[in-house]
Amino acid sequence: MHDRFQYEKDQKVVFTKEMKESYTILCPMMLKIQFRIFRDIFIRHGYKLVLLETEHSAIVDEGLQNVHNDTCYPALLVIGQLLDALKSGKYDINKTALLITQTGGGCRASNYIHLLRKALKKNNLEHVPVISLNASGLERNPGFKLSLPLIIELAYALIYGDLLMLLSNQTRPYEINKGDTDRLVDRWSKKVSNEVRGVTLFKNKKVKKDLVNMVADFSKIDMKRTEKIKVGIVGEIYMKYSPLGNNDLEDFLLSEGAEVFVPGLLDFIIYCVDNTITDFKMYKMDRLKGLVSMVAKKYLLKLQNMMISAVESSPIFNPPASFEKIKSLVKGYVSSRNKMGEGWLLPAEMLELISAGYENIVCTQPFGCLPNHIVGKGMIRKIRENHPNANIVAIDYDPGATRINQENRIKLMLSVAKTKQKFANIV
Ligand code: SF4
Repeated sequence: MHDRFQYEKDQKVVFTKEMKESYTILCPMMLKIQFRIFRDIFIRHGYKLVLLETEHSAIVDEGLQNVHNDTCYPALLVIGQLLDALKSGKYDINKTALLITQTGGGCRASNYIHLLRKALKKNNLEHVPVISLNASGLERNPGFKLSLPLIIELAYALIYGDLLMLLSNQTRPYEINKGDTDRLVDRWSKKVSNEVRGVTLFKNKKVKKDLVNMVADFSKIDMKRTEKIKVGIVGEIYMKYSPLGNNDLEDFLLSEGAEVFVPGLLDFIIYCVDNTITDFKMYKMDRLKGLVSMVAKKYLLKLQNMMISAVESSPIFNPPASFEKIKSLVKGYVSSRNKMGEGWLLPAEMLELISAGYENIVCTQPFGCLPNHIVGKGMIRKIRENHPNANIVAIDYDPGATRINQENRIKLMLSVAKTKQKFANIV
């Protein structure tokens, strides 16, 4: 054991205030647009945060060697990516910390951190501090604090990021000059960290104006509106968003000529907050947390409405549905108290996509994820019964699944969609 590090009773290395100054914090990538904006905000708040955007096959090998192979595939990838980075020689292992999320729910995502610490020990790296990013008070580190101003900035950054993702997905397939969309995404992403500097709960006029300006900027991109197959992506959160997890699914669909719709991260965050309210109301759990969650939910819904109104300011774009609307869609499918994994949100997102005209859906399912197999794959038959036009394919992701096999199954789904489209055009 390294003596110069501060350990807690259970042998965890504490990330101290002094470490904040000198340590590089490695964080796995999940959503390209939103996470890059978050990184810039953390850097402005004094953290040396590095986003890991590596995607090579050694990451899976590292995960397989260090995590039990019946563990959820997202855990295997995230832990593999962090260990791969530590061993890459790019970072000083005595001045590096790792950041990982803990959801605080009943699912295994709360326990990835323990698997990571076990893997570090196996590799004689147990002196590397692991920081838990959570909103449930599960673990605390004196050198890493989610202060209220920082949380507020991140919340605003989230709606900028979700809006950028939504708009870019609706312009990229139609742009005449290749790269226009990506250039605009870059321009806005660079601006956001500064735009949200010092925003408060009540001082958000500038944000409202920015969101409308952003929509106007995207609507000015030169586009040729040809008929495209519209595809929605749902699933377990990491698989749905992470290019490393889903083998660049968005890019693949785009290369096949589809327009993609990916539900925003904000819905998942509101879903987590909503679950805490359910715990409080149904099971009489932590009253204070319940009350704080009610206030937080109200505020997040307000931010979401702000974003939806901005999209509605242009006739070109499909706005996302509000959280409450999405929740109402799932009645008759699963209980809105089903909250393991993505719980009721997963089938609700499929229903939202269908009602928005994205009847072709890829449902991403990671290995080891029982809850999402129930609310994802398990719901497809019932959804098809009520929506005969729904064309849903569930794709499994695991260390042994080949990309070619996944892509072939998606191509099959796309060819069904194309046939339907041709038929609809004839009729
Ligand atoms: S949602 Fe699935 S993948 Fe995520 S922690 Fe739960 S079981 Fe694992």
